[in-house]
Amino acid sequence: MTTTHIRPLVAGNWKMNGLAAALGEATAVNEALSGSTIPADVMLCPPATLLSRMAEAMRGSAVRIGAQDCHPAASGAHTGDISAEMVKDAGASAVIVGHSERRADHAELDRIVRAKAVAAHRAGLTAIVCIGETRGERAAGLTIDVVNRQLKSSLPDGVTGANTVVAYEPVWAIGTGLTPSTDDVAEVHAAIRAHLTGRFPAEGDRVRILYGGSVKPSNAKELMSLPNVNGALVGGASLKADDFLAIIRAYA
Ligand code: PEP
Repeated sequence: MTTTHIRPLVAGNWKMNGLAAALGEATAVNEALSGSTIPADVMLCPPATLLSRMAEAMRGSAVRIGAQDCHPAASGAHTGDISAEMVKDAGASAVIVGHSERRADHAELDRIVRAKAVAAHRAGLTAIVCIGETRGERAAGLTIDVVNRQLKSSLPDGVTGANTVVAYEPVWAIGTGLTPSTDDVAEVHAAIRAHLTGRFPAEGDRVRILYGGSVKPSNAKELMSLPNVNGALVGGASLKADDFLAIIRAYA
């Protein structure tokens, strides 16, 4: 099913990049978009150190702020972690959970990702839940199985179009310059949509499904025009305002 009625989202994941001087890139995005009518929501997800400053700088603008992770608990003895409530308090409206780099670097299993999504919902944040197969899983023909297993185990009950976004990010496409074929992207997004509408009949066709993995100005339009692709999660190309704006303008 083509879900053209969904307002797309273009979200930039800065990962562990950005000192205070990089706030100028966010400001440049904001200034370029102000007064324009791009039919997409725009979000930047800076490192935790910049969350509140970026939120302050974007206050009143169309650029939303997201965090890159949160702890499942609201507070407590978890040195170095931040809770969903803290993310919200810092001025963010969303949080990425289950990014493949966190699954790999911090051994985050689906059940932990799910707990983090529950925490995001508890705090009133939109959970951007990342899923995607490794190179080996794709080569073995397991992509759809892997994606369905991750969806089943990582998505909590109570998913709505407002509180959850799913980001399909093939691990082998992240930061590599490689992307799946458009047929492959469309096939996986259709499977994700089928899972969502099967499990959440009232809301499943309202949940945004983003594609992520080496999205850049030159491929954004083609990727974004595919059925069930409701936006993009952009890593490297979100660090520079000009590149990120060119991707956003793929919707214009
Ligand atoms: C990401 O890590 O979320 C991502 C999509 O990275 P990149 O765009 O750099 O491949």
